[in-house]
Amino acid sequence: MNNEIVIDDAWFTVSQIDAETFAISEFGHWEKVHSFLLLGQERAALIDTGLGIDQIKRMTDQLTDLPIIVLTTHVHADHIGSHGQFEEIYVHEAEEDWLVSGIKGLGIEQIRKDMSRDITRPVPETFDPTSYKPYQGKPTGLLRDGDVVELGGRSLKIYHTPGHSPGHIALFDPSRGYLFTGDLLYDETPVYAFYPTTDPEALLNSLDTISRIPEVKRIFGSHNTIGLDPSWLKVAQHAAQDLREKDLVRYGTGIHTYEGLRIQF
Ligand SMILES: [Zn+2]
Ligand SMILES: [Zn+2]
Repeated sequence: MNNEIVIDDAWFTVSQIDAETFAISEFGHWEKVHSFLLLGQERAALIDTGLGIDQIKRMTDQLTDLPIIVLTTHVHADHIGSHGQFEEIYVHEAEEDWLVSGIKGLGIEQIRKDMSRDITRPVPETFDPTSYKPYQGKPTGLLRDGDVVELGGRSLKIYHTPGHSPGHIALFDPSRGYLFTGDLLYDETPVYAFYPTTDPEALLNSLDTISRIPEVKRIFGSHNTIGLDPSWLKVAQHAAQDLREKDLVRYGTGIHTYEGLRIQF
């Protein structure tokens, strides 16, 4: 199933997943980041706000007049870039301090290097990689495992899925069977937990957690292909089991491949 491209802006590409669900993608950057806009009847949820190279609100303004709440999959630079453009921001309680005081485990030089390399589209003049700084600020509220965010006729269930980062969440939309997996599960490039602040065992436990969610019809990771078949959950579950059996759940064991899924420790 291909998603129709409804806006191809200088920096962002908007694909329509259904009438009330959009992916806002940054294909000009090597990370191929997606943020997702979900419209309810009363408000809209924006899952992450991208790299911050350009301002994502320019796109959400074209897609909805509803008030927008930002739900943060996790506090890494490529997911919180345009947080500062929105009034209402939510984050898992385990990463509140990162949002307020800065991301732990990754130096600013590394962040700037990753942010500015391998860019294939013209960036806006406002983007300066030498002074780039990830968003910092106080969230409106905190998310916990099992929370349900109501959008009006549509809701999102929050799953705490640590491992890639301590306060990582996945979000499930039971109205459509969509599972938004952030950096826990995506295709093409390795999902990873290989440096301090990541936790390989927790990552595998989180893959188990999402593979137990019933009625998943489509999986949306934050990078690479938009929309994966639910059979990926079976692959993820098998990967977790196999890595444990082979005693590979430690930093430095490398990249482990299970069909299209790659996991790097
Ligand atoms: Zn991440
Ligand atoms: Zn990411």
